[in-house]
Amino acid sequence: MMEPVKGIERYTRRPGPGGETGGSYYRIRCRHCSSVFERKARKYSGPPPDLEGEVLPEAKKAGWDVLHGARRAMCPGCRGVLAQAKAKKEAKIMVTKPTPTPKPRTEPGEVVPLKPAVAGKAEAPPSMDIDAAFLIRDKLGEVYLDAQRGYGEGWTDKKVAESLTVPRDWVRQVRCKVYGASSAGGAEDFAPVLNEARAVLAAAKDLTEQGLKVQQEVAVFERARGEVLAQVGRLERRLADIEKAVG
Ligand SMILES: [Zn+2]
Repeated sequence: MMEPVKGIERYTRRPGPGGETGGSYYRIRCRHCSSVFERKARKYSGPPPDLEGEVLPEAKKAGWDVLHGARRAMCPGCRGVLAQAKAKKEAKIMVTKPTPTPKPRTEPGEVVPLKPAVAGKAEAPPSMDIDAAFLIRDKLGEVYLDAQRGYGEGWTDKKVAESLTVPRDWVRQVRCKVYGASSAGGAEDFAPVLNEARAVLAAAKDLTEQGLKVQQEVAVFERARGEVLAQVGRLERRLADIEKAVG
């Protein structure tokens, strides 16, 4: 047997007793099992010009995987096993991937964990359920003094909403129901006042800056006036001198 070229062996076979034809053969081996692919070599006077071109297409036709050359060839049997294993693996992934989360059942009287207020801003605001309403009412009972005095120190609609992880608007709704629509919702009620104060401050700052500008302009004007007056004085003196000289 000759040295394999690019994984393709060449050997000479004698005519077999059962009528097998003798001659030159090529052979490639499966990289996983003992299967071989054999092909009778064409006759050349010299070495074959393209060994791979002669053997690999034939092997491929016979169902072999020769995509990565004869050294990494795979027989049809091993290809089948590999394909099966792959399909099984994929099926397993398909099964394990989508596991729908079961909806939690609600027993009567059970406190339902409330969903965070921030979940899904694009969606329509969730409507309040009865459990949430009771929870908010109880919390307000702890931290809200009365309609006149409003919240106890440090508490606001916002803080209650955050402590219960419910939308702030739910807290406002419950507060208005329990303590009246004019009841104070906490520091956020001062937002309009704060905005007005900010606007007034901004206007005051603007006026101060304008005043400074006027002051600077006045200083420039005063300097110019001084220079003109000095010039007038000099001219008066010169005129007086001339009058004296002429007169
Ligand atoms: Zn094989």
